[in-house]
Amino acid sequence: MYNPKTISEELKKLYPYRTELHAHSSPASGCSEVKADDLVRTFHEAGYDAIAITNHLISDTEHAESKEKALDKFKKDLYLAYETGDKLGMKVYTGAELRFYKHSDNDYLFYGFTFDELPDIFDYLNTNLETFVKEYKKKDSLLIQAHPFRNGMIRMNQDLLDAVEAFNVHQNHNSRVAVAAKYAAEHGKIMTVGSDYHHPGFAGISATRTKLLPKDEAELIKVIKNDDFLIEIGGRILL
Ligand SMILES: [Zn+2]
Ligand SMILES: [Zn+2]
Repeated sequence: MYNPKTISEELKKLYPYRTELHAHSSPASGCSEVKADDLVRTFHEAGYDAIAITNHLISDTEHAESKEKALDKFKKDLYLAYETGDKLGMKVYTGAELRFYKHSDNDYLFYGFTFDELPDIFDYLNTNLETFVKEYKKKDSLLIQAHPFRNGMIRMNQDLLDAVEAFNVHQNHNSRVAVAAKYAAEHGKIMTVGSDYHHPGFAGISATRTKLLPKDEAELIKVIKNDDFLIEIGGRILL
């Protein structure tokens, strides 16, 4: 006879690979306290197979640094993460967390772009979500509204987005995950999970579990868009 705990353990065997989809490193994300190499090592030691680095991209150059400086830091952290991942046998995916700061404080997790595209992506952050999606976003990329029910967030036209980060488990924010999950379900959207890792000490509380380890961002995006993954929170699979 199966009980939920046994089912959870059986599902883990079917979906053995663990990925973190939402993590920040310093100095690329000014709010992070963790260097990119420590970030990758921390998740490796916490039993993950892969991590997507999703540093903030906000083109608010009136109040911050130049585009060149921001993108330079963004790339440097990723190079350090790739290098550390190679050493440890840990997969590192490229991602970003975009904010169209003139429109709102909403954040969007974005995957499926190359470094060559960064200058254009950065310029689009002066526009809004709709313009970015309609004019620029490629079909095979992945765009997810991060923590849509945190204070100050605005819900968007879900047709513009591929998924909802229903389960953002950042320790220092109330992301109202149950409300976010209900919202995603009502809109027929794929739900994702992310630790939104910024500070030492909280790795390992949530994971995206897959049957195979996606070899690159394109494979990861397919898995997410096909909804062929499991959400693990606190060591249990969300059933
Ligand atoms: Zn941050
Ligand atoms: Zn974040």
